[in-house]
Amino acid sequence: MNKFEQLGLNESLLKAIGDLGFETPSEVQEKAIPLLLQDDTDIVALAQTGTGKTAAFGFPLIQKIDPFNKQTQVLILSPTRELCLQITNEIKLYSKYIDGLYTVAVYGGASINDQARDIKRGAQVIVATPGRMQDMINRGMVNIKNISICVLDEADEMLNMGFYEDITSILSETPRDKNTWLFSATMPQEVARIAKEFMRDPQEITVGHKNSSSANISHEYYLVNARDRYEALKRLADANPDIFSVVFCRTKRDTQAVAEKLIEDGYNAAALHGDLSQAQRDGVMKAFRGRQIQMLVATDVAARGIDVDNVTHVINYQLPDEIETYTHRSGRTGRAGKSGTSFVIITKSEVRKIHAIERIIKTKFEEKTIPSGMEICEIQLLHLANKIKDTETDHAIDNYLPAIFDILGDLDKEELIKKVVSVEFNRFLNYYKKSKDLTQIPGKAGEVPTSGAVRYFVNLGARDGFEWMELKDFLRDTLEVGRDDVFKVDVKEGFSFFNTDAELADKVMTVLNGLEHNGRRINVEISKNDGAKNSGRRDHNGRDRKRDGGFSGKREGGSRDGSFRRDGGNREGGFRREGGSREGGFRSDRPKRDGERRSDSRDSGRRGEGRTSERRSSGSSFESAKRTPRRSKD
Ligand code: ADP
Ligand code: MG
Repeated sequence: MNKFEQLGLNESLLKAIGDLGFETPSEVQEKAIPLLLQDDTDIVALAQTGTGKTAAFGFPLIQKIDPFNKQTQVLILSPTRELCLQITNEIKLYSKYIDGLYTVAVYGGASINDQARDIKRGAQVIVATPGRMQDMINRGMVNIKNISICVLDEADEMLNMGFYEDITSILSETPRDKNTWLFSATMPQEVARIAKEFMRDPQEITVGHKNSSSANISHEYYLVNARDRYEALKRLADANPDIFSVVFCRTKRDTQAVAEKLIEDGYNAAALHGDLSQAQRDGVMKAFRGRQIQMLVATDVAARGIDVDNVTHVINYQLPDEIETYTHRSGRTGRAGKSGTSFVIITKSEVRKIHAIERIIKTKFEEKTIPSGMEICEIQLLHLANKIKDTETDHAIDNYLPAIFDILGDLDKEELIKKVVSVEFNRFLNYYKKSKDLTQIPGKAGEVPTSGAVRYFVNLGARDGFEWMELKDFLRDTLEVGRDDVFKVDVKEGFSFFNTDAELADKVMTVLNGLEHNGRRINVEISKNDGAKNSGRRDHNGRDRKRDGGFSGKREGGSRDGSFRRDGGNREGGFRREGGSREGGFRSDRPKRDGERRSDSRDSGRRGEGRTSERRSSGSSFESAKRTPRRSKD
């Protein structure tokens, strides 16, 4: 007898489960399904992400539905639109052999009237985000007075997102004698409060340690200087040629900026965050599931609970503000028994956060160093060799062979192999030949200080229309910091100086570098730790720049230790494919990672929003030179 059959599931479900290819129930399924089928009970089920909770509630609720009754019988609440759609999709797959069972997704950003109409057609199951559900109730578009089951999925996250009021108000519209099934990865106090106030003698199911991380995920951290964060990200991607990853940033703005830079540098990347329209988000998710996107750069909220198979890596570009969130991030990989890796890029001041996370996930991190350029070349070379070996040849090529033999026939085997491999390899080599070591050496010049005030140089000045007040406002808005967090702003003609506390240094460097202002890339450098001492002592030509900071007047050349970044990292930045298809060269298995830059990279705002890096017009690498900020008073 099939293991799922032993749990008491009926024929049509078993058939659908067979189609899904599930062979054995996961632990939470094994515990929850029989319980929910046999008893009419409330439950609180705690299991980490990726353990199969959707089916743990989905199978039993489907079996409990009367498909001949066209009233809404089950309400599932979930925190985000993506999750709502994902669950809806799963429920439809599970119930595909049950005639008359109808599931509708209800979420913001799509037509409420369409959703109401779909429900009226006789949906037994509604999967909803709390905000939109509340909206529908207020407008009298839905009747949940007769439901028998209410599922709260990812309850911790819903409460985190501030849905407490909505949830309690929605629950008050439901009958008292229904059952509430609460599923959550963690059990913070708010979840316990919901359980206490709105549930009757819930049975509790716990799988694994509460809040602990999945055993098949390995955790690694990489210590870098703040200004190397982006370069480190690219190296991690290049060192893992088959990477299929979710890259987490802290804010929407960073998410957008990092995705844009990656796209510009030729990676298959896209941003996913709350400022995108529903259609854009759907497009991004579709492309990610279809693997046209290898690096999905996302905010925590947008990526919460996303279940995409075979994500190889989660990359914490920045650590989350709340360290508990780390578990949710890393849970995007290592799903369904597969193994996965979670990378964290940190600066020195964040090491203690790593230790705090270790205590939460009850797992040790491995400290690693960012691979050197040469290591990456080797990895890519071997990857390419294996790929050539595994490539199947198509008969269509036979027609061209005589002509090709004319050209290549005289080369001996060794020569030919070298040349073939070099087509691809040279690009990496050229790019990484002069690459620097990103390992963070404590005390190295240019390192982001961890205490005191920090003084910065920025390539924005009076000629960009800034007076000191305006620049201060601009910086505060861009950095999303408080009134007094930016101080000692000193505006010159072509550049300026300002201060922040050291704890903001990392943010300043990460957020501002690479942003564009009026079509120019912003460049910020740390001028000196303890900027207070220096401020106000410069003459009006800013001639004491040398004393004030480490830069030497030769900055146009961008040679100083790589810290002056001409165009957001392209110079030192990612390996860029030079139009593999145009040259007819060997393409890696990132078919679209052509690295061809868009000719106009200034259509900001739209860049990265649901776009992958496909087919940009062939870009000049000279663009960067063209856009090198000119400094007026040199
Ligand atoms: P959770 O909600 O706990 O984070 P999901 O319900 O999203 O996890 O399931 C994670 C993944 O595991 C999904 O891709 C799902 O299809 C798969 N899965 C669930 N149950 C099984 C099972 N019994 N056997 C194989 N795969 C499963
Ligand atoms: Mg889930």
